Amino acid sequence: MNGVASLLTIDTGQGYEDRETGQIRYTRPPRARYECHECGTTEGPVAGSVRVREFVANVRTDHRARCSARTTTQQGAHTA
Ligand SMILES: [Zn+2]
Repeated sequence: MNGVASLLTIDTGQGYEDRETGQIRYTRPPRARYECHECGTTEGPVAGSVRVREFVANVRTDHRARCSARTTTQQGAHTA
C-alpha cells in the first residue's frame, strides 16, 4: 500500500469580478481541506481566498510537523 498518503482538496468557490474594484466577490467562498491518510487527521477546512492560499502553501509542512504517524516513526529511531 504505497498509494496516496495525503489528499489536498481545493474548492475554488464561485464568484464574479466586481467591475468597479476589479476584485472577486464570492457568492460561495473558496475552501480547502487536507486529509492525511497516515494518521487519519483532517486539517481544515478553511474558507476565504487568502486563508485558502496560505493553507495550501503551508499545510503539508505544518501537518508534517504535527503528524502523529510521522513523529512517532522519527522519534522512535532516536531511542538509545
Ligand atoms: Zn498525518
